[in-house]
Amino acid sequence: MEKSITAFMIQLFALVAGFSTAVFTVGAEKPNIVLIIADDLGYGELGFQGCTEIPTPHIDSIAKNGTRFTDGYVTCSMCHPSRAGMMTGRHQVRFGIEGNPPIKERNYGVPASEPMLAERLKKLSYTTGLIGKWHLGPTHELSPLRRGFDEFYGIHHGGHSFLPTSKQRTKGPLMRGDQEITEETYLTTALGREAVNFVDRHHRAPFFLCLSFTAVHKPLEATEADLKRFPEMKPGKRKTHAAMTVSMDDAVGKVLASLQAHDLEKNTLIIFISDNGGFRAIASRNTPLRGAKWNLFEGGNRVPFAMQWTGRIPAGKLYEKPVSALDILPTSVVAAGGTIDPAWKLDGVNLMPFLNGTDKGHPHETLYWRIGERQAIRHGNWKMIHDRALKRPALFDLSQDIGESTDLAGKNPEKLAQLKTLYERWAKELPPAQVDTKYGRL
Ligand code: CA
Repeated sequence: MEKSITAFMIQLFALVAGFSTAVFTVGAEKPNIVLIIADDLGYGELGFQGCTEIPTPHIDSIAKNGTRFTDGYVTCSMCHPSRAGMMTGRHQVRFGIEGNPPIKERNYGVPASEPMLAERLKKLSYTTGLIGKWHLGPTHELSPLRRGFDEFYGIHHGGHSFLPTSKQRTKGPLMRGDQEITEETYLTTALGREAVNFVDRHHRAPFFLCLSFTAVHKPLEATEADLKRFPEMKPGKRKTHAAMTVSMDDAVGKVLASLQAHDLEKNTLIIFISDNGGFRAIASRNTPLRGAKWNLFEGGNRVPFAMQWTGRIPAGKLYEKPVSALDILPTSVVAAGGTIDPAWKLDGVNLMPFLNGTDKGHPHETLYWRIGERQAIRHGNWKMIHDRALKRPALFDLSQDIGESTDLAGKNPEKLAQLKTLYERWAKELPPAQVDTKYGRL
């Protein structure tokens, strides 16, 4: 009897010791972080968003193996400001970014005084790489290699042709590091190739890979092979858009396969998001939302958004409280073993306690948007938009009216007044509104 008790105690000790070691190992091992950004991809696209027309199994797997956000927002419905908020965790209007710069402008970017995600992860001993679009400062001082990235392959500017044979204006050179290069491969495929190459070279130590696609931003260009995957669709913008999207999905699939091949899938936080909503010019749909890129309706700012981290973020779950691209920086920094200093004055929050269920509250009670004189606020399920295209501020109840079709401002003046007050309180913290850019109109 005594013998069996002793044997049991030994087994129990071994079990506890083994468990402690396992917990210690999980806690001590820094995860890799892979942030995948699509460009101008609408809320209604992707299989995990309910699109049945364009198969995207690889991107869908991120939502399937992780958590999908139904109410995931960016901070602006255009590229440069949205990315500025995403990469700093601070609302970009706080440091003077309210719209896209004119295409030929070079004197713009996130000021060096605003630390960005790659810089923060670099301090946590991460190897960092940006593959794809930057659009956060084209000057030498504000370029990716000066903002925390060890490696860069892509473009400084807002868009680029996809086909090597393209006659489209490219808006700027393709770069590797600080060198201009040419590319003989379809750009989306090339970005996937470079991302896989990055994982192959850095899989032994914690890395941050930002794979920032230029798809499905204009120009609309697809390969003949990808177009042939949609024989039932007639030639046109939508067909090209579909072909561009499946090319992006293929590239994501190759990166995910590379993570699996290196046995990194379990220890990698994978984030997928679009930088703003889709719009008619590129045939990207925001169904069932109203509005599109450039404007303040949900279609401009609510985007496909999902996070996967095996064993840490619940798989196959929906998270329906509003979250923001602002949350990517603090979530990543904490996942990487860092702490958030209140002096950073972040607007984003670490989402992990909300996703694993230890915090039942709301990551954000209120979200704000400002583009010059145009303004919007979401507080709970209520949304106010004040825009010069509207004669007066409009009020929507998103819990009943996701498509923002019924203006309740006249029926509910108290709620409108409450949201106005909240907005004005927030706006007092900001520098004066800047003159709208030519791209900022509805
Ligand atoms: Ca964009």
